[in-house]
Amino acid sequence: MLPYKNSVHLTTKGNPVPRIRKTIRAIWTGTAGLFLTDAKTSLYVDPFVSYQSMFGIITGKLRIHNTAIENTIAQLIHHSGNPDGIFISHSHYDHILDVPVFADDWEKDERKKGRKKDIIPVYGSDSAGNYLWHFPEISKKFQLLQSEKEISLGNWKITGLESEHGKAVLGRIAYAGEITKKSPRPVRARDFRMGKIYSFMMQISGVTIVHHGSAGFRKGMYDGKRADILFLGVAGWKYSREYLAETIGMLQPKVVVPIHFDNFFHKRFQPETDKKPQILWDVSLEKFMRKVEREYPQTRLILLEPGGSIIWNHTAGKTGKKKSPAD
Ligand SMILES: [Zn+2]
Repeated sequence: MLPYKNSVHLTTKGNPVPRIRKTIRAIWTGTAGLFLTDAKTSLYVDPFVSYQSMFGIITGKLRIHNTAIENTIAQLIHHSGNPDGIFISHSHYDHILDVPVFADDWEKDERKKGRKKDIIPVYGSDSAGNYLWHFPEISKKFQLLQSEKEISLGNWKITGLESEHGKAVLGRIAYAGEITKKSPRPVRARDFRMGKIYSFMMQISGVTIVHHGSAGFRKGMYDGKRADILFLGVAGWKYSREYLAETIGMLQPKVVVPIHFDNFFHKRFQPETDKKPQILWDVSLEKFMRKVEREYPQTRLILLEPGGSIIWNHTAGKTGKKKSPAD
């Protein structure tokens, strides 16, 4: 039985993370989806909850599950205000399909009444922008990512780093290429060409969180960089011998959280009724975890169930220790 956790609190005591003044929450929403908040400013990375059956993918158009998205948003913004930015790692459907719905920024409790406040800015590649071009209101708020260029949102600083896609489908990269300006509106899985791939370094109050959503890398992309918490894409990890060395080995994170190992061709995991998440075939999650634990014993490995959170608590002033510069 895998050691799934629903929520893990990291405090200075017993956990090697910097002491901080505020509470930061990171929720893994399944696949590569992440929601980060300091209760004031919140971010989505790759929000996606419209799981499709394999039969549906092969035979027809993808369906956006509005109710699932709205339920997810309601649960997430319970922890915060409405999000301030959406970051897209690449334009495969399991990273971008739902973005036009997530980008509608509704006043709390106003969603049912149909009063829309604004559109949340979306940051992504050319290919992502060309998908969103089919949604004119969202497209107006689209921002093209530039590798290594820092973006400030509230107290967050976000930097996209160009990466590569993992060989996630039986040792192959699926749907390579770009969604172009001339592409008709993507509706089938194969229309969602991946475009450029980004990982994201997100910093707040001296804490660095990295989202590495796909199990590929550019050699040396993390040269000289460090992370406190690394959300690491698992699907395809075993087709690259250097993947762990180029990510965990370089970033030396204090905590690693595996993501993108759950089966998104199955119904979404419901913690209230389902005993355990379905895992993608060909992933070997247990083998991945054993290898990380064996090769990086100084790193704490935390396995969240989809919807699970990592929380850094406010601890300043409680330990009686001198403030660290990270405060
Ligand atoms: Zn992908």
